[in-house]
Amino acid sequence: MKNNRIGLILVVSSLAVIALVVTLLLKRQHTEQAEQVRVQGLGTVRSLAALPASVLLPAPGQPGVLASLLAGRDNPDFAYAAITGEDGRNLAEVASPGAIVPPAAPLALASFDERSVAPGQNARAIREFRGPLASADARLQLRIGYFAPHGLLDLKDLPFYALIALAVFLLVPLIYIVIKREMAPLAALGEQLKTLGAAQAQPVQEFDAGQDVRGLAGKLNRYLDHTSARIRELEQDSIASMASGRLLEYGSNKMQAVLQCLPDGLLVLDPAGEVTFATGKIEPLLGVPVAEVLSQPVEAWCRDPELRAMLARFRGAGQDARSQMTIEFNPLGVPGKRLWATAQALTGHSMAYGTLVVLRDATREHLARQAGNDFVAHVAHELKSPLNVIGMYGEMLADVGIDDPAVRVEAINVIQDEVERMVSLVNNLLNVSKLEMGSMRPERHRVKLDDLLRDAWQQARSRAEAKNIRLDLQVARDLAAVSVDKDMFRIALNNLLNNAIKYNTAGGTVTLAAEEGDSDVTIAVRDSGIGMTPEDRERVTEKFFRVRETGDEQRGGHGLGLYLSNQIVELHHGRLTIESELGHGSVFSIHLKKMPALAEGGQVL
Ligand code: ADP
Repeated sequence: MKNNRIGLILVVSSLAVIALVVTLLLKRQHTEQAEQVRVQGLGTVRSLAALPASVLLPAPGQPGVLASLLAGRDNPDFAYAAITGEDGRNLAEVASPGAIVPPAAPLALASFDERSVAPGQNARAIREFRGPLASADARLQLRIGYFAPHGLLDLKDLPFYALIALAVFLLVPLIYIVIKREMAPLAALGEQLKTLGAAQAQPVQEFDAGQDVRGLAGKLNRYLDHTSARIRELEQDSIASMASGRLLEYGSNKMQAVLQCLPDGLLVLDPAGEVTFATGKIEPLLGVPVAEVLSQPVEAWCRDPELRAMLARFRGAGQDARSQMTIEFNPLGVPGKRLWATAQALTGHSMAYGTLVVLRDATREHLARQAGNDFVAHVAHELKSPLNVIGMYGEMLADVGIDDPAVRVEAINVIQDEVERMVSLVNNLLNVSKLEMGSMRPERHRVKLDDLLRDAWQQARSRAEAKNIRLDLQVARDLAAVSVDKDMFRIALNNLLNNAIKYNTAGGTVTLAAEEGDSDVTIAVRDSGIGMTPEDRERVTEKFFRVRETGDEQRGGHGLGLYLSNQIVELHHGRLTIESELGHGSVFSIHLKKMPALAEGGQVL
């Protein structure tokens, strides 16, 4: 349809072109002919006017030169020639067949001129050229008329016009073919745009036949608009998805950082039993690097039979969401460690995602539990022995047969000693329990340290003398005051002095000393006793920790004295340090902040 229209336009326009060309040619031909007639007419008139009238006019019985000259011309446009007198009468005339010599105006001509003669009796218009005869009788004028060019197509030019028309007719189909060829990609493009528009649910609007190229441009513009809008949308989508991706990545990294910071080790296994996630804490717990665990089945990295057995139970997809299991074991990779491993099935939305394993260091709890058990056994023993002794001596006192006062006194002393030991144990236990429940809060007052130390020294003297140990005091009188809870601080001090006496040998010494620094005071309990190894020194302040007794002498104890002393010092914002060497005695030092000097009248306890 579109192509037919183009063809029609081409035919019409080619016909218009041919018509225009022919018109222009005709016009040109007409002008040329008129000019030719003029040149010829004027030339002939001038040349004939130069002849004498006697030559031009015919003699009786003979044709004049005029007649013979003009009669011989083979010019189809020649109309007539005449010599006209002053009175307008023609003295001689010759005319072509069908032409009539028009009358002349009765006047004498001074120069050559030309005029148009209306067709009148002649069929065609005539162009007349005239001029005065040059001879003495100048009153005569010579007139020569030529038919004006008729403006019709000259048949002799017909082949030329036919050639032009042929060329135009041949060019038209050629141009049509070329245009058709050139238009083909545009048509295909139009179709493609239509298809693309349809594919994007944006139907491209149809245009009427007259608007094809503009329609195509419109389609193209709309398609480009739509495409750039789509690109912008996609860019925005892509920015949004990038942002949400970054957010997700941030969230995931944050989650991983949180999981990595957990004190417990985490493992995530897929339903097939392969590790998909592991935190760095598993290395110190299991003794296996994370790199060896990741993407590996349990058998490849787990050496502990208890853990393997538990994980084997969680393998597969049919785990119940509530199924959880905890075991306690000693990992083969880290000797001395005790672990809790809890496995939990990961399920949700009727899917099994695998198993979460939490590994927790239970060494402390295990040791505490062990120590607790040992302690119960020990306390039971500690209570049982004095009770047995008290029972025995009580029976003895009740026995009416014993009248010896010395025996009675000894029995009473033994009973008192055993009661004291039991009271000390029970007191320590009560203090530990108070400390752990948080109900032991120091009520601090400004205390004169030298008085406090002297009291403690006095109390310990009898025990030292009983064991043949010298107890020295090196405390200056003007020692700085400190802010302490007097009763609590005395418990700490007594424990240190009792230990210095207890873990000493007969004939040894114990010194209670105090030194004042710029900002703090150091109280030192120095003994020449059995000392301890560096390993034991690290642990003596732990609850229930006791150094294994090796010698013959069994000193007895509960592993609570130093724990309590250390806690009390810390409650006073102080520090307990221990220097000791096995077999060469120990120094236990309490470092306390000094109190600023009191203004006069301040209360000192
Ligand atoms: P205990 O009731 O066993 O004395 P402590 O907590 O007071 O408990 O002491 C813990 C351990 O520290 C003791 O078992 C002992 O081995 C060691 N110890 C404490 N004081 C001294 C000391 N002055 N010299 C050597 N060892 C000491």
